[in-house]
Amino acid sequence: MTNSNNRLRIALQKKGRLSKDCNELLKQCGVKITWNEQRLIAYSENLPIEILRVRDDDIPGLVFDGVVDLGIIGENVLEEEELGRIAGGEKVEYKKLRTLDFGGCRLSLAIDRDQPYHSVQDFNNALIATSYPNLLKRYMKEQGVPFKSILLNGSVEVAPSAGIAHAICDLVSSGATLEANGLKEVEVIYQSKACLIQRAEPLDGDKQQLVDKLLTRIQGVQQAAESKYIMLHAPKEKLEEITALLPGVENPTILPLAHDDSKVAMHVVSQETLFWETMEQLKEMGASSVLVLPIEKMLA
Ligand code: ATP
Ligand code: MG
Repeated sequence: MTNSNNRLRIALQKKGRLSKDCNELLKQCGVKITWNEQRLIAYSENLPIEILRVRDDDIPGLVFDGVVDLGIIGENVLEEEELGRIAGGEKVEYKKLRTLDFGGCRLSLAIDRDQPYHSVQDFNNALIATSYPNLLKRYMKEQGVPFKSILLNGSVEVAPSAGIAHAICDLVSSGATLEANGLKEVEVIYQSKACLIQRAEPLDGDKQQLVDKLLTRIQGVQQAAESKYIMLHAPKEKLEEITALLPGVENPTILPLAHDDSKVAMHVVSQETLFWETMEQLKEMGASSVLVLPIEKMLA
């Protein structure tokens, strides 16, 4: 058994929509973990890190209470827990280190598909089923609409057809679940992504250094995911025009071609996706052999 005392402790969702992306992110950051389905704690083989695998609802509290050093959690769950604690008179402290590029969803109000809808005022005195009573309450207060909520921790979408509530306030990504239950989305009340949080109480020097290193790596992974490496052959006289067409490019690398004096090879890192339309325009300008490659990691 490894001594866990000096390890940086990170809470992640054990099983669910965030798990795969969290594990993938750690892997891309060079954190090697031996996963064991049965175990609550997993250890990194190459860094002093241990992973606490829990229900996502428990993650904000574990960070607020300083039981773990870091956590990855949906902003929806984080803010719901934070509002709940504040409403209960508790003081909540944590640091939000970074918004991540996965776990995107929205918290929306939805009603029966056949019911007419005009504005949020339609919810006046309505009974709304939700797993997010605090986020809903904050929104309705801002809108000045009185309502009542029923707390359901699952199967929220069946509440209207079961006669339990007039409407629901639930997470949506594609909208397919709503549709399958005869509901329509009428108001988006909160946009969410996964985020990385740290406990408020300072970490010891070594741990904080490790956190900083992880953050730099995460930034490198995310930047790389948004960037492309583009290689092409360009007519010498069109270099400027071609550079202007490529999104987010500052300093292209220009290399001579072995058997063609009229063209050069151009290598660039572009911060954005290259669309087919741009590729076609490049071709019209005389560019050839256009290659767009994904980038795995980046360190500026
Ligand atoms: P747990 O068993 O850990 O409590 P859960 O069932 O509460 O899991 P999941 O359904 O795995 O939670 O969702 C976790 C998080 O994923 C959500 O809180 C939200 O931030 C994010 N998410 C992204 N897309 C969706 C979606 N379409 N529906 C629900 N959550 C989504
Ligand atoms: Mg949960």
